[in-house]
Amino acid sequence: MIHHPWGQVAQPGRIPYIADLLAVPAPAGKPFGELWLGAHEAAPSAISLPTGELPLPELIRQQPAAVLGGKTLAAGFAELPFLLKILSCDEPLSIQAHPDKALAAQLHARDPEHYPDANHKPEIAIALTPFEAMCGFRPAAAIRADVLRLAPLAPFGADLPDDAQWLRAAYRRLFTVEDAVIRTAGQALVATLSAQAEPTPEEACFLKLWRFFPNDRGALSAFFLNHLDLRPGESVFLPANEPHAYVNGVIVECMANSNNVVRAGCTGKFIDREVLLDMLAYRQGPPPVTTGRKLAHGSLYEPPIPEFAVELIDLKAGDAVELGSDDLVSILLVIEGTCALRVPGQPSLTARRGSSWLWPAAVPGMALVCESEAGRLVRARPNL
Ligand SMILES: [Zn+2]
Repeated sequence: MIHHPWGQVAQPGRIPYIADLLAVPAPAGKPFGELWLGAHEAAPSAISLPTGELPLPELIRQQPAAVLGGKTLAAGFAELPFLLKILSCDEPLSIQAHPDKALAAQLHARDPEHYPDANHKPEIAIALTPFEAMCGFRPAAAIRADVLRLAPLAPFGADLPDDAQWLRAAYRRLFTVEDAVIRTAGQALVATLSAQAEPTPEEACFLKLWRFFPNDRGALSAFFLNHLDLRPGESVFLPANEPHAYVNGVIVECMANSNNVVRAGCTGKFIDREVLLDMLAYRQGPPPVTTGRKLAHGSLYEPPIPEFAVELIDLKAGDAVELGSDDLVSILLVIEGTCALRVPGQPSLTARRGSSWLWPAAVPGMALVCESEAGRLVRARPNL
């Protein structure tokens, strides 16, 4: 559990999602940002064994084939390939992007303090509540129309040639002009937009970001990035080099086992603007939003990478589902209800809300039986 300052805090009538899930106290003002399940060295999960607790990376070192399975090893992964999280935020996270493998290796070699892994970090966000985010660039023509329509935005590209390089040049302008230009533009925008009855989604998002991060150039990214309002069950996949920021809500997040983030604004953490500007793909238009592939009991989200797929398993009272490991390691997290986990030849286990389970590849099959009115589990596994 990580108490990032942007995490959900207790409000009248609402316990932070993660505190509620884990049934831990949520004192006033204490933020609950992330729950990590995996083998990342920054916060490895502990596995309860009959012989005691063992950090997951250690268990994998001791029994790589039994835990990870032959397919995962053959695909070149000597560690758990993914990191599963619950992320819940009341405040916006930084404007960021994640490097591809080649850039991650370079950044890690050059600056291991700020780039702790040599690995890439593609990620998927699956909404558990309404979830607000900014992902990828809007079409350049739409951004340029705002820059021409709203006078305070003029410094960010009104004078630049209207050609294929406009977006790249305008975004660079935003992140390289002097602080005074940002202050003046932002304050003028607040004055203009606050007097307006119906702000556009981008304007409303800018006002929100500027309120949390006054005079921060990252807030003006709201005009450059696609604004997304995901409904529960909807997901967005973020490949390398796509700018994004999560703004509000609760998600299941899964990513390659990495913690490499290049940040450009709206954060107290390390900012690396030049790296961000250089790495971005400058792809335009909204990212695909999907609800996954429908299964008999839930939905399967399969991004186009080998490290992970995520399944939301939805059960009703008495439902029994047979699952196979398919020679893959899984992590299960119960987010609603209570289920029995039944492995042939072993005593049945009770999996309550908030509990998480390592399912080693060597255990070929398991039955899930819903013992409450409804049950919901998250399963993450390699996508091989
Ligand atoms: Zn991210």
